[in-house]
Amino acid sequence: MKNTKVIIIGSGMGSLSAAALLAKKGLDIQVFEQNYLPGGCTTSYWRKGFVFEAGATTLVGLDEHMSLKYVLEETGIEISARKLDLPMLVHLPNGETISRFQDIEQWINEAERVFGKKGQRAFWTDAYQISQFVWKTSLKQKSFPPTSFSDLISAVKNVELSQIKNLPSAFLSVDHLLRKYGLHENELFIKFVNEQLMITAQNTKEEVNWLFGATALCYTNYGNYYIDGGLLNLVNPFVKYIESKGGEVLLREGVTRVEKLGQRYKVITTKGEYTCDYLISGLPINNTFEIYQGAYQTKLKSKLMESKQLNSAFQMGIGFKSNQHFGALHHQIHLTSPLAETGSDSIFISLSHEDDGTRCDAKGQRVMSISTHIPDPENRIVNNEIAEAAIIQILEERGFLRKEDIVYQHSSTPKSWSKWTGRKWGFVGGYPQYLKIKPWQMLDARLDGHKAYLVGDTAYPGQGIPGVTLSGIIAVEKMSRDWGLYPSPKVKTLRSKQDRIKL
Ligand SMILES: Cc1cc2nc3c(=O)[nH]c(=O)nc-3n(C[C@H](O)[C@H](O)[C@H](O)COP(=O)(O)OP(=O)(O)OC[C@H]3O[C@@H](n4cnc5c(N)ncnc54)[C@H](O)[C@@H]3O)c2cc1C
Repeated sequence: MKNTKVIIIGSGMGSLSAAALLAKKGLDIQVFEQNYLPGGCTTSYWRKGFVFEAGATTLVGLDEHMSLKYVLEETGIEISARKLDLPMLVHLPNGETISRFQDIEQWINEAERVFGKKGQRAFWTDAYQISQFVWKTSLKQKSFPPTSFSDLISAVKNVELSQIKNLPSAFLSVDHLLRKYGLHENELFIKFVNEQLMITAQNTKEEVNWLFGATALCYTNYGNYYIDGGLLNLVNPFVKYIESKGGEVLLREGVTRVEKLGQRYKVITTKGEYTCDYLISGLPINNTFEIYQGAYQTKLKSKLMESKQLNSAFQMGIGFKSNQHFGALHHQIHLTSPLAETGSDSIFISLSHEDDGTRCDAKGQRVMSISTHIPDPENRIVNNEIAEAAIIQILEERGFLRKEDIVYQHSSTPKSWSKWTGRKWGFVGGYPQYLKIKPWQMLDARLDGHKAYLVGDTAYPGQGIPGVTLSGIIAVEKMSRDWGLYPSPKVKTLRSKQDRIKL
């Protein structure tokens, strides 16, 4: 098997998950990454005495039935993560703050306290049940979406009554469920739902189906984790593992073109030419389309997304002096008027852990990441200075910091994202949920009907790191079955510890 070579384009978490699973099976892995760091939207970089997160800041996926836990267990990769007591605080436009407790009962009581008793218990009980179903099913149905006969056989073999029972949720919008539970006139709650959906499903109540919407809304009802030193310390163990198996992760070497060469692929990079038996693209479908000069462009073309369907992000990194206790590491502030330059209705704030001494050079300092959506990135030019000033004013008003305590600040717009990740128009966060795209109409991991596969957040949208990790698992499963590479791995159970876990 060692001579069976797989080239993987990009080193995002989707790519690295697939690479690690394939390296374990003895395939010869070569990952090409255009950036100087691995991880793409999930990584961290050092600047002016602080370690900033590039994109992702929240981490789920380490609970039972979740994708990241599955890959760690399959490969034996170890990471060190702190479990957060309180996953998030949400600051509502009426000035009230709501705690997003992990425990569902505690959360329902909190939701009833803030939004009123009507409909809350029924809404969240339903949502939590669906979210548990989605997570449990995702690792049982590793051929999702089924697009071949063998996928169908595998899907049918693993089908359970609950999957059939919950199928209608894919046809209903979150909006429909709000109406069902009499919550459609509760304006404060509707705004809450929409802004929470934006960070996990990238769209609002009319467009997100209940199956994914419920899962997105219950994001905080699962274990949320923090990694000391930033999420690069999630990525690096994957890179080390791939290298320990004889694979390579080549940085600063972007792929410019892929050609079909008989049964193999020719991969042209900024530094040379390579051939391989299997190809995995960890780039969004729009980027993959641009570099894959195959006979299959017609098939890919119909799957491309337009800028107006997508989002980029305005992200700000601040290193500042602080001895403050913030109550939680992650905060979402719901604004009373749209943010200058981006037009967004909320901002998301993540702080470095107060006990993590590795993110700042000096004592008594913290790092803050602030992000918000920028719709239609191709057509939006954002003035950094104006957006930064507007955000700092909000942070001061809400008591997060004082301007004079800022040691260093910088920000990124679609242009920066396009440079950092190479992603078309700098669109990030995956493609948003749309009601007309049913879960089984999601992009297939099979790219060209041959030995090329797709992973990443356009293959498995919406759920960030756990979603792209799942896309890696699915691609490996399909690849293995398509070409009889090896029997697919079994789901095992990981031990879990309450506070600080080493997996
Ligand atoms: C601001 C922001 C906040 C987010 N917050 C969260 C969060 O809190 N929690 C969460 O779970 N998720 C979050 N996400 C989403 C999550 O980070 C992404 O969905 C996920 O990391 C994407 O992984 P991916 O595998 O699709 O690849 P990407 O991260 O897009 O990586 C693709 C890689 O390919 C490389 N590349 C591109 N072109 C080429 C080429 N031609 N040749 C070689 N290499 C190439 C890029 O440099 C990049 O490293 C956030 C995203 C953003 C932008």
